[in-house]
Amino acid sequence: MDDCLFCSIADRKIPANVVYEDDQVMAFHDINPVAPVHVLIIPKKHISSLNEAEGHDQELLGHILLTAGKLAAELGIAEAGYRLITNTGPNGGQVIFHLHFHLIGGRHLGSKIA
Ligand code: AMP
Ligand code: ZN
Repeated sequence: MDDCLFCSIADRKIPANVVYEDDQVMAFHDINPVAPVHVLIIPKKHISSLNEAEGHDQELLGHILLTAGKLAAELGIAEAGYRLITNTGPNGGQVIFHLHFHLIGGRHLGSKIA
C-alpha cells in the first residue's frame, strides 16, 4: 500500500533493523524502544489494524503469535518474560495504521497494562 510506512519497510524501500523475515511476516527493532528489547512484528500484507483482520487472516495471525514466541526465545527474553501488545485505534494509542505487535522485554514491566 502506498503511503504506509510499514508497507515500505516490508518492501525494503525504507530501511529498518530487521531481526526476522519470511514470506508472510517481518520483525524489526522499534526506532524508539521503551525497553532493552522492543521489536515490532508485522504482516507483510497491509492490514490497517486488528479491526480490519478477517477470517482468512487466521493462519497469518497465528503465525505472528508463534513468531513472537520464537523471537522472544532467540532474543533471550523468553524465560524472564515479556509483553506482546497490539494498539488498536485512537483510544488504543495506535499511531501507525499497519497492524503490528510490540514484543517488549529485557526489564521488569510491572503488572499494570496501562
Ligand atoms: P503504535 O502506537 O502501536 O502505532 O506504535 C508505532 C511504533 O512504531 C512506535 O513504537 C514507534 O516508535 C515505531 N516506529 C515508528 N517509525 C518507525 C520506524 N521507521 N522504524 C521502526 N519503528 C518505528
Ligand atoms: Zn501497510
